Amino acid sequence: MSFSVLIMGSGSALPTVHSNQTSQIIEMGNSLFLMDCGEGTQIQLRKHKVKVQKIDHIFISHLHGDHFFGLVGLLSTMHLLGRKNELHIHGPKGLKEIVEIQFRNAGNHLSFEMLFHQTDHAGQVVYEDDKVIVTALPLKHRIPCFGYKFQEKEKPRKLKPAALEKYEIPNYARHAITLGEDFRDGEGKVIPNKKLTEDPDAPKAYAYCSDTAYYPKLQEFIQEVDLLYHEATFLESEKERAAQTFHSTAMDAATVAKEVNAKRLIVGHFSNRYKSKERFLQEGRQLFKNMDLAEEGKVFEV
Ligand SMILES: [Zn+2]
Ligand SMILES: [Zn+2]
Repeated sequence: MSFSVLIMGSGSALPTVHSNQTSQIIEMGNSLFLMDCGEGTQIQLRKHKVKVQKIDHIFISHLHGDHFFGLVGLLSTMHLLGRKNELHIHGPKGLKEIVEIQFRNAGNHLSFEMLFHQTDHAGQVVYEDDKVIVTALPLKHRIPCFGYKFQEKEKPRKLKPAALEKYEIPNYARHAITLGEDFRDGEGKVIPNKKLTEDPDAPKAYAYCSDTAYYPKLQEFIQEVDLLYHEATFLESEKERAAQTFHSTAMDAATVAKEVNAKRLIVGHFSNRYKSKERFLQEGRQLFKNMDLAEEGKVFEV
């Protein structure tokens, strides 16, 4: 299954000509998930040629404007483009009220149904299908705020084509074999599963953590993710400012990546005060080498 993260914006606070606000597209197989929706996200979706009507689930971390001020505009555009499919919107308490009041007061009736799902506790399974599971993560911010972990489910065992031929395994039996069953022929002869299959690839996981102060509790919810996005609004030189505003430094993000045994770390939500983003890497890589900047337009394979 394809599994990638497209960064459409990673600025904090106000949007500028050089930085768009937080928004990402997470592609898992045939599904496109929109993660946060800062101002201008619909323009970013167009710019990066994302098929807007293929998005059926939107996840909002919290109700600070830099993470959702683009939502009403995007919903309005989906309506103007004639969307019919229902749209699921996941986020904290209050989001439904904010969105609905805007459309109600404009006298708009959307062409599609919006289904709101409240995220209210860490560990909550917010989405699940036969291949994917999404759970809420705890973050430590000024207002209720959730991260989300996107995870592949355990995959079926891989069939060994040569062995299938050798033991003349009929097609109808193959599905059960991928689920781990032995093969039994009409005369009661048994071919053990391990002769016919090999281990599947390990399920992959991506964790999105913005906005938050350094929060060691994350270790209880994420272990060994393939890719971790963690905010790094500040550098250690502004550690006090980070603490006051419940944000993290590049060193905090690297510390979390180490603690949760992430394979790779990407950081974003940079404060506009820093002209060069390289300093984030210089700082974080002292502790965690496999670290990159979540800059607009970059695609990270999970
Ligand atoms: Zn923010
Ligand atoms: Zn915030």
